[in-house]
Amino acid sequence: MRARTQGARAIDCPRSRYPVRVYVAETFLSLQGEGLLVGLPSFFIRTSGCNLRCTWCDTPYTSWAPEGERRGVDEMVAAACSSGADHVVVTGGEPLLQREIGSLTRALRAAGLHVTVETAGTLAPDFVCSLLSVSPKTANSDPGGRFRSRHRRLRTDLVPLATLLDRHPEHQIKFVVRGADDMPEILTLLNELGHRRCDRVLLMAEGRTASEVDARSGEVAALCLAHGFRYTPRLHLDLFGGGRGV
Ligand code: SF4
Repeated sequence: MRARTQGARAIDCPRSRYPVRVYVAETFLSLQGEGLLVGLPSFFIRTSGCNLRCTWCDTPYTSWAPEGERRGVDEMVAAACSSGADHVVVTGGEPLLQREIGSLTRALRAAGLHVTVETAGTLAPDFVCSLLSVSPKTANSDPGGRFRSRHRRLRTDLVPLATLLDRHPEHQIKFVVRGADDMPEILTLLNELGHRRCDRVLLMAEGRTASEVDARSGEVAALCLAHGFRYTPRLHLDLFGGGRGV
């Protein structure tokens, strides 16, 4: 479902109150593909730029080779309001890198929209959201080469992650899982965070295509059963095959 435009929402979208800009790779209307709100029509604002370099990153155009343009907060709020969706997902890249993340999220909430912010949890700036969706990265994400040490240092610093979870009690934690070998690290991380809400912990199979996810889904489902975590599909891959704009 690419950039489907519906009638304007009956909302007074604020205009010209937020004359600031955010580096954006793409915006589009689709179905939320992962997490507690899977299947909900949502307007996505994908910011560009990331401080991590996951080896399996499925949006390299926001991390390894970031691209996009500076777009006004007003413009994006207006686009979200006219999309017809009640839900907005601010994702990346790493949206918390954007200096104007607070202005953007406040403007979206002021327009009456449900705002999910998706982050890897390595930064803790001030912003608002209806649902915080954190995807801490584990060793299976580590790249080789010159980014390796910085990537590991950032992903293993739990201070920003703990701060975010404390500030945003309405949250979910999603882990990208390749197999049972990932579980000791995930369980250790949750234990260090003191996180006990298993129903808010979701496991999803690593893969950039539906067939790659399918190949791991059985093992990941078994891990959810064994540990009491929630399984999340990657619906956008099943329905649209992945790629940009979904
Ligand atoms: S945190 Fe997300 S956007 Fe950044 S490199 Fe990892 S998967 Fe890609």
